[in-house]
Order: sequence, then structure tokens, then C-alpha cells
Amino acid sequence: MSDSNPAVTRMHKYNPELTDLVFDYMRDRLAMPEVPLDFPGDKDVLAAALAGLIKPEGNAAADVLKLYDEVVSRAVVSGDSPRFMAFIPTAPTKAALLFDMIVSCASIQGISWLEAAGSITAENQVLRWMADVAGLPQGAGGTFVSGGSAANLAALTVARETGRDSRVMKKRAPVRIALSKQAHSSIGNSLAILDIEPLIVETIGFAMTVEDLTRALAKCDPNDPPVVGIVATAGTTNAGILDDLAGIGNFARANNLWFHVDAAYGGAGLLAPSTRSLFAGIELADSITMDPHKWWFAPFDVAAILYREPKLAAAVHTQDASYLDVLHEDDVINPTDLAYHLTRRARGLPLWFSVAVNGTKAYSDAVEASVQLTQEVAELVRSHPELELVIEPNLSVVLWRRIGWQAKDYRDLQDRLIASQTAFVTPTSWQGETVGRFAFVHPGTTIEMVNEVFAAL
Ligand SMILES: *Cc1c(COP(=O)(O)O)cnc(C)c1O
Repeated sequence: MSDSNPAVTRMHKYNPELTDLVFDYMRDRLAMPEVPLDFPGDKDVLAAALAGLIKPEGNAAADVLKLYDEVVSRAVVSGDSPRFMAFIPTAPTKAALLFDMIVSCASIQGISWLEAAGSITAENQVLRWMADVAGLPQGAGGTFVSGGSAANLAALTVARETGRDSRVMKKRAPVRIALSKQAHSSIGNSLAILDIEPLIVETIGFAMTVEDLTRALAKCDPNDPPVVGIVATAGTTNAGILDDLAGIGNFARANNLWFHVDAAYGGAGLLAPSTRSLFAGIELADSITMDPHKWWFAPFDVAAILYREPKLAAAVHTQDASYLDVLHEDDVINPTDLAYHLTRRARGLPLWFSVAVNGTKAYSDAVEASVQLTQEVAELVRSHPELELVIEPNLSVVLWRRIGWQAKDYRDLQDRLIASQTAFVTPTSWQGETVGRFAFVHPGTTIEMVNEVFAAL
């Protein structure tokens, strides 16, 4: 490193004041019994507050951190607050959060066995645990990607190519993949990116059954592109509904269809004794998406993509470049070969550390806590004279309606609750109707907090 330019050497030199500043901030945050919910921001106000910050000579770290603390961070609704009950919240363990800092401060990557055998072995250990929980065979394996959307895209790419190969089709020949309307939006997006035509399976009930699937296939014109795979959802994001995994999975295996299970939100329900049986058949999957940053208590951003036969994924995703040849000696499969990415941080390590420290029993208990809270809240809704359950909840999402309410009433409630920092609760739509919705994953969310929401109706 050149000593001639102090501005250059300063950037990479250990600075005790800067370090204390940041570590003190992190310690204070970690010590909060309940992080503040904070607020949706106004983008013009925020832009004005940050104007001029990026400049040739830089700023004092204390000033920038203060701006972050007082302005930036306050305009981010905290997904890890126990009062965050919208979308899918997050609830990282202290061990996972702390280890995330180690991964960052050591620039730990998990690209290839050649460079990163240690972090890959640890990531694979926790992936193996997830595969065991789902009942996948010993040969299964996968990698961690940025989110469920990336995991679904990775899996459906493999589904497409494997489907073509096993039917001896041309490289770019059209194929289709079946899904129901309840499938997550990222599935539709992935199919569009991959130029795969969707076959929408009409369902008689809320969950897709094998009868729904066979009916849809029977209606297909034999001249249409072949259906090479089926996507089932194990816990819809909107309502927590699980498709008939066993029926669809057995049909898929018998008919040479790739069976992808999107369990990005719901997969952690495998850990809870009272919801485990809902997942019967997930072990038949060719690929499974599960998001540790949702209900497995890991910080953003991490999703697992698991394959029954990782070799099929490597055949599709491995990047071929002269400077990478050295990574593929001895026929090894690297994490980077299993999805659309090359450089990757070892983003599975915070989960690995936390599971190793806390033990799997604590994970089961924590997921079960949200399932139990869901049932208590359902009971509260049933016994409330002006509330109704929209459907019976089974994982940790509750859809409810206030009799007589319109869309605007739910939006007003959302605004009132965030203004008073009581909760973040957003409505959803169910069969064309705007309804109230809670999603619980934080073990710190209490029935009292939910009562505070109902008290504000
Ligand atoms: C959240 C979710 C996704 C998308 O995952 P991201 O991590 O947000 O990209 C996909 N499918 C289901 C069922 C989900 O719940």
C-alpha cells in the first residue's frame, strides 16, 4: 500500500474511534428489548436531508452515523419489531445477527471448494439439516441465494432444462410449467424471464389438489408445448395455504414432471410439531425453496434452494470461463454452480452459527410459538362480535374482516396504527375483497399486542 497519499491509506487503516462508534451503535441496537417500529418515510424530505453528503473530501464518521441513526434508520419500518405483523416479518436471533457481522468483517465468501472449503462445509451442514427436516434423500444439496425469488428462478431454470433433456427436445424448444393462481408472484416472474408458458391450474378449493392438476392436463391440446414441471406452494404468502403436496408429488414422479415446492415462507412450519404433518409429500420434491430470512430467524438476505439431485442443477448453472476452469477440477460441485450467481458471500453462515449455538429444539419451539399465537388470535376473532375469520388459519397468517368495513377503513387503520407505533398491519385482498391480515413469525409478538390492534378498530 502506498504511503504517499494519506487519504488512500486512511481508508484501510484500523481506526479505533470509528470502530467504537459503530460497535457502540450495534451494541445499543442489540440490547433493545424491542426495536422501535419506526415510520414510512417521505422521499423528498429524506433526499433533502442527505443532499450534498457524497463529496470529494468526505465527512466525519460521527456525522454520517448520526444522520443514519436519526434520519435514515427512522424511515425504515423495522421488519424485526414484534409489532411488525404485515407482509412476512423477520426475527433474526442475536447469534445470527452477531455472526452476520463476522461474515462481513472477514469478507467470508462461499464460492468454490478451492477457495472456501470451510464456509461451504458449514453452509452445507445447515442445508443438510434443512433437507433432513424436509425428508430429502442423502444425495440432496443446494446453496443459499439472496431470496425466495432467486431460489425459484434457479430451480425453474433447472426444471426447464431437465424437462427438455429427458424428452430429447431441442435446446430452445418451448415447454410449459403448471402452477395455480395462488403461486407466489415470483413464480410468474421467473417463468416470464425463462420464456416458459404457464399452465394455470384452476383449483376447486383454495389449495391445489392432484385432481385439479390432472383435470388441467387432460384439457391440454396435444399440440401444445409439453408440461415439464409443476410448482406447488407449501404455505401461500397471502393466507398460509398448503397445496396437496403428496398427491401432486406422487403424480409428478409417475409422470416425469419436475416437482418444485415453494416453501419460502411456510417451510419453517416443518419444525413445529403441530404443523409438521401439513407438509406430507414435500420429501418427493425435485427442488424446494425455503427462506431463512422469513421464519428461520436469520437476517436478510438469505434463501435456501435445495435440489434432490444437485448434479442436474450444476449441469445448468455452472459458468464456463477460462479463468474458472481451475474450480472444476475433480468434478466438484461448488455452491456457485447451483444457481444464477458467481461471487457470493457465505450468507448461510449466520443461520449455521445460530442453529449450532441455540440447537434445533429452540427453533422448533420458536416456530411453534407463532403457530400457537395464530390459533389464539383466531379464537379472539371468533369471539369478537364485529370480527370474522376469512378462512381458518393453519400456519401463522390470519385473514380477518371487520363486518361492514371497506378498503379505506383498513388503510385508515394501517395509518393510525403506525402513527401510534402500535403495530404495522397492512390489508390484503381475498377473492376481490379487502380484508385484514396478520403474519406472525416473531416469538416476541404477544396476544396483548394484537389486542392493542383490535382496540384501535
Ligand atoms: C416471500 C416468498 C417468495 C419470495 O421470496 P423473497 O425472499 O422475497 O424473494 C416466494 N415464494 C413465497 C411462497 C414467498 O412467501
